[in-house]
Amino acid sequence: MSLCRAAYRGSIHTTRSFSTPPILLPSRLFSQSFFRQDDRQWRNHPPSRSPKHNVTKVLLVGLAIGTGIGWGVNQYSGATTRSSNKYGSPEDFAKAIEELTSHLGPDKVSTNPDDLDSHGFSANDYHPGISPSVVVYPETTEDVVLIVKTATRFKMPVIPYSGATSLEGHFRASYDRWQHSSGGICVDLNRMDRILKIHPEDSDLVCQPAARWMDINETLKEKGIPLFFPWKGRADVWHQIDPAPGATIGVAVAQFPDVKAATQAVAEILNRGVGIQCVELVDDVFMRATNTYGVSKRKWAEKDSLFFKFQGPTERSLKETAEIVKGVVKKYGANGFELARNREEANELWQDRKNAHYSGLALIPGSKGIATDVCVPVSRLPELVHETKKDLAQVGLVSTIVGHVGDGNFHALILFENDDEFGRAKGAVDRMVKRAIALDGTCTGEHGVGLGKKKYLVEELGEGTVALMKTIKKAIDPLDLFNPGKLYPDEDSPDSREHR
Ligand SMILES: Cc1cc2nc3c(=O)[nH]c(=O)nc-3n(C[C@H](O)[C@H](O)[C@H](O)COP(=O)(O)OP(=O)(O)OC[C@H]3O[C@@H](n4cnc5c(N)ncnc54)[C@H](O)[C@@H]3O)c2cc1C
Repeated sequence: MSLCRAAYRGSIHTTRSFSTPPILLPSRLFSQSFFRQDDRQWRNHPPSRSPKHNVTKVLLVGLAIGTGIGWGVNQYSGATTRSSNKYGSPEDFAKAIEELTSHLGPDKVSTNPDDLDSHGFSANDYHPGISPSVVVYPETTEDVVLIVKTATRFKMPVIPYSGATSLEGHFRASYDRWQHSSGGICVDLNRMDRILKIHPEDSDLVCQPAARWMDINETLKEKGIPLFFPWKGRADVWHQIDPAPGATIGVAVAQFPDVKAATQAVAEILNRGVGIQCVELVDDVFMRATNTYGVSKRKWAEKDSLFFKFQGPTERSLKETAEIVKGVVKKYGANGFELARNREEANELWQDRKNAHYSGLALIPGSKGIATDVCVPVSRLPELVHETKKDLAQVGLVSTIVGHVGDGNFHALILFENDDEFGRAKGAVDRMVKRAIALDGTCTGEHGVGLGKKKYLVEELGEGTVALMKTIKKAIDPLDLFNPGKLYPDEDSPDSREHR
């Protein structure tokens, strides 16, 4: 049986696989209920390219259903389709669904149009795609192996699905060159959500791929198990594993004259080696959004600000950290340093940061938002934020900005209300990505490449690196079944030519 060993040494994505495939990465970071609103207006954009451009190679995301493909391919190298098509025919797909239903049982297989629809689209992004042909709900590793074998036999794409929060069309089914009206097997992992083993002595645990971080926190709390994970430099762990019990948490907020001063303060604080678990940069518009959202118990100064989360073994250590941080931020012109006096206040303060997506959207009631991220070396962050804000103002769009300042990751939520604004927002994202790459950064820090950012890969990494990545993917997924169409620019598409 193959499991994930999620070692919380800085990232929930740190995994180790122990035995046989498939390898399933842990995910599901957010409450799903947030993300299921219907969004028909923008989601069903027709494919922007000819279908033939959408059949290409992908790397790690598709690795999900793992090296199981290895024996699957060997066993079933003669797929049933008689044509030379890359994927099976519609009849092959129908046979695959029949076989899945017969082997897994009808309660683990759905072709209900509502299920297909909800597994094909997301309210969080606006990329083109189609629904999967079928949704399967494995409960065991053996179920997953059976699904992959069936997919291999009938040459059917396989797309994992977990919390469904990804923002770049990662779980869209792709159009294929044979113009199937449906796009493969969606593997909904949500029934595989158990924590299987906890190793306090190794500071890690073994869980199924859809174990929820909040459930993990709850379980650890109930059992009184502290897991160590380091804080320094990590700025994006706000949604992750609590260090409790045995460690304490403090939260503080400080306002700065500008992003540059805030970034400089962070650099000095991190270099002091104090117990910072996270430090989040937010801009003045974010603070305005928080004030108007109506949930916060405070009225914030509407200035570029930092949210700090401190961590330490004792109250005394927290106090010391807070004092050092207070001194440094003052040096860089901060005012209004607000330190939570107890856990309740700490949660309140942090909640304002956590509401970012919804407070941002509420700035323009009824608007939609493109949420995107890029990442640059920390020292270049002020320049990136400055230029991007200037650009957004020039094109007349409202946007909130949040940065995980410790690692140079920067998120924008760009609001739009109609097609014209949507077009302008997409243009602004394109310029923001190119700006980040020009500043020695990357097109995405944590949201991932998916469909939306694949056209930037060659510009960022160079043709040779992209070719190497494709070669690795091909070695483990020769039939291009695992989440096809994502991550790499299609070979003969305008996307890949654009950056040559
Ligand atoms: C409001 C909001 C805030 C966000 N904040 C953050 C943040 O702070 N930090 C951050 O990192 N991200 C953030 N994201 C981005 C997103 O939530 C993450 O990328 C998240 O990790 C996606 O996980 P998921 O379970 O929802 O995956 P899904 O959206 O279900 O899937 C994402 C991709 O991974 C594949 N996949 C799913 N499960 C598996 C598996 N077990 N094995 C292999 N592949 C799999 C899917 O096929 C798909 O291609 C945010 C998103 C939103 C909407």
